[in-house]
Amino acid sequence: MEREKVVIIGSGPAGYTAAIYAARAGLTPVLYTGGQPGGQLTTTNDVENFPGYPEGINGPQMMLDLQKQAERFGTRIHYGLVTAVDFSGSPLKLTIDEKDLLETETVIIATGASAKYLGIPSEEKFSNKGVSACAVCDGYFYRGKDVAVVGAGDSAAEEATYLAKLCSKVHLIVRRDEMRASKIMQQRVLNTPNIQIHWNTATDEITGDESGVTGVRLVDTRTGEKSEIKVQGFFLAIGHQPNTGIFKGQLAMDESGYLKVEPGTTKTNVEGVFAVGDVADRIYRQAITAAGSGCMGALDAEKYLAAKETEVVH
Ligand code: NDP
Repeated sequence: MEREKVVIIGSGPAGYTAAIYAARAGLTPVLYTGGQPGGQLTTTNDVENFPGYPEGINGPQMMLDLQKQAERFGTRIHYGLVTAVDFSGSPLKLTIDEKDLLETETVIIATGASAKYLGIPSEEKFSNKGVSACAVCDGYFYRGKDVAVVGAGDSAAEEATYLAKLCSKVHLIVRRDEMRASKIMQQRVLNTPNIQIHWNTATDEITGDESGVTGVRLVDTRTGEKSEIKVQGFFLAIGHQPNTGIFKGQLAMDESGYLKVEPGTTKTNVEGVFAVGDVADRIYRQAITAAGSGCMGALDAEKYLAAKETEVVH
């Protein structure tokens, strides 16, 4: 079996940036795209906060450009899924699409995270037409308009206060009679006059027409009574799920499943395995921070391989 030097798992900004750097270092990396080639940005229309694009850029287009840039320097891109890993020894072993085996000296994990959704049909229907899971990415499109945010943790509090600066009114939909968010973040929400909290409230359905979202049907969780609010945007802030299922039992993770790395580096607890982007970042979760850590991952892998080679020579 041929042994690879660097295998990158994931094709978001972190994965492609790692690929660009690893390829330019002559490591001819292999990149497995995963089930959603291009990652979370392929679900965004316009990316306006990535430096270098004064007019903004379409999310899927940006990912195609990153892919081309990675290929230009010799990255081999495969549309496959890494379905299992064995990091118990060296070389590291990967199973592709449940059948093919691959051996490699290093792995850069860039599998990202996925926003949690409520699981109601109208979310998908209005995806990119008023439904978003990222206020920082999409909030600007709703300036001067009314929006709703669902959730009650720090993300929901942060997104609601962020949106309140841009929008006329923010409806915060909280399913219980209290919020999970830290006291200081809750206080910020309570002190913002254009945020209205709907306590003990669940989302029954998002309503709209061909132009997009026009409202939300709410249901009181105590009485079952239904009501409707008019909004043009609906933001989910009920948490993210890091895509780390295949690494359980092999790599150190925090209690939410995010991969742990040595602070200031991308090194996991297994030699030769590096984690970059949202899979190891529960706080920032931006394309630009993911790209930056992708670069770090490639440099860490390159350094690791160089040190290993030196060991062999001596
Ligand atoms: P959390 O898991 O902390 O909170 C999720 C929230 O969503 C909970 O309030 C939960 O309600 C609610 N929720 C979950 N499912 C549903 C549903 N189906 N319908 C309605 N509501 C639902 O996720 P966050 O993303 O807020 O935070 C994740 C981590 O990141 C936390 O540790 C947080 O502290 C941290 N963070 C820190 C920030 C900062 O410091 N600036 C900013 C953002 C996040 P319930 O309470 O009823 O379970």
